[in-house]
Amino acid sequence: MAQTRGVDMEKLVSLSKRRGFIFPSSEIYGGLGSCWDYGPLGVELKRNVKEAWWKAMVQERDDMVGLDASILMHPQTWVASGHVQQFADPLVECKSCHLRFRADDLKDEKDKKCPNCGGELTEPRMFNLMFKTFMGPVEEQAAVVYLRPETAQGIFVNFENVIATSRKKLPFGIAQTGKAFRNEITTGNFIFRSREFEQMEVEFFVKPGTDKDWFQYWVQERFNWYVKLGINREHLRLRQHGKDELAHYALDCYDIEYLFPMGWSELEGIANRGNFDLAQHAKYSGKDLSYFDEETQERIMPYIIEPSAGVDRSVLAFLLDAYHEEVVEKEKRVLLRLHPALAPIKVAILPLSRNEKLLPMAKEVYGEVRQAFITQYDDSQSIGRRYRRQDEIGTPLCVTIDFQSLDDRQVTVRDRDSLKQIRVPLEVLRATLAAKLAGEPMEVLPPGGSKWLGFDS
Ligand code: ATP
Repeated sequence: MAQTRGVDMEKLVSLSKRRGFIFPSSEIYGGLGSCWDYGPLGVELKRNVKEAWWKAMVQERDDMVGLDASILMHPQTWVASGHVQQFADPLVECKSCHLRFRADDLKDEKDKKCPNCGGELTEPRMFNLMFKTFMGPVEEQAAVVYLRPETAQGIFVNFENVIATSRKKLPFGIAQTGKAFRNEITTGNFIFRSREFEQMEVEFFVKPGTDKDWFQYWVQERFNWYVKLGINREHLRLRQHGKDELAHYALDCYDIEYLFPMGWSELEGIANRGNFDLAQHAKYSGKDLSYFDEETQERIMPYIIEPSAGVDRSVLAFLLDAYHEEVVEKEKRVLLRLHPALAPIKVAILPLSRNEKLLPMAKEVYGEVRQAFITQYDDSQSIGRRYRRQDEIGTPLCVTIDFQSLDDRQVTVRDRDSLKQIRVPLEVLRATLAAKLAGEPMEVLPPGGSKWLGFDS
């Protein structure tokens, strides 16, 4: 498998399984094609990614509100959106082994044979990527509904409701995170492309004529979000879609691409959708979805800028970028340099040993720290092994209680990345942890604190 920066996908899949980030779905039955389960650490990481997105997109902005629409929607939604007609990929099937492949993946003459067995291929046929199910007890055509293949449509159909209740004026956006389902033909590369995944989407409604500026704004804003959360800028790039590549609704589109182990691939798409969506839903629902512009006293159809990100792909990129191997005192150290906002466990409480004299204070510290941060208590093996375990799951700070702590009521705080340790009085521990997690350097000491290990001078 291809290598990027010392980490390949196999290594990450193995760490994810071993440490409890991500497991294959229904593994005891042999797994289910391209579906994944997030384990105890994975679920925290994923929640943190979504929370960081929500904070940046909703909490810190005046021009955004949130939404949580249902997965099942009126089937006309998907006729209006174009998914029933367009969300289909031409496929070819091998006449001997019956495997199916995307026709557009097989462009060369040499590819006219089955890539699996060399057999003869059928002519391309359309195949809809939407999962179908039935609403109610009768399995008939009239009862067909779809599992949403994107969260966006739930936003468009609620445009009027949100305007009426939030009293927002253009420009403003509606943000949503949630599951989406696509019966993808080519899956793989771990959680990069799966059949059930989660999206984080914004539909940002603007006045026509201001759309190009807002489009550029959102491309930059979204690019910077990944950088702020620790992704190396060199591993990100923007790629504008060519005219032949643009989706049927899009006036312009950029992909934010990440250097995954299999090469540069889409992490997030930002599209200028024009007024396509509101116009289509107005047409199919018979409702007036125009907006009354108080400035010009005219009704207008807003244009929409859509930054559409994948939660799972972001999780994968954050994990890949955080993975580091280094040698410390002649021993290999694997660590995830996850941004503290994303790290599944923020603080580990590690009594030096299982000696029962240390227990009351260790439990006292644990009880207090866990009120503020997701915290893990571990007293299982040697302190060195426990540090390494926390490094490997990306825990930014470890707190160690030793015998001296019993006398001076001070504990050590160890920083994952620099390996620096400081000695901190218990009464300022929580505030110190909060400051360090917010990015304060270890050199800055709390009242009564002192440098301990790992400082040059
Ligand atoms: P791709 O061509 O890579 O399948 P797409 O262009 O179809 O992606 P969009 O429809 O733009 O994707 O969806 C927006 C985002 O949702 C993507 O940038 C990606 O992060 C995520 N996403 C889409 N499909 C999947 C999938 N099958 N598995 C995981 N994430 C996905």
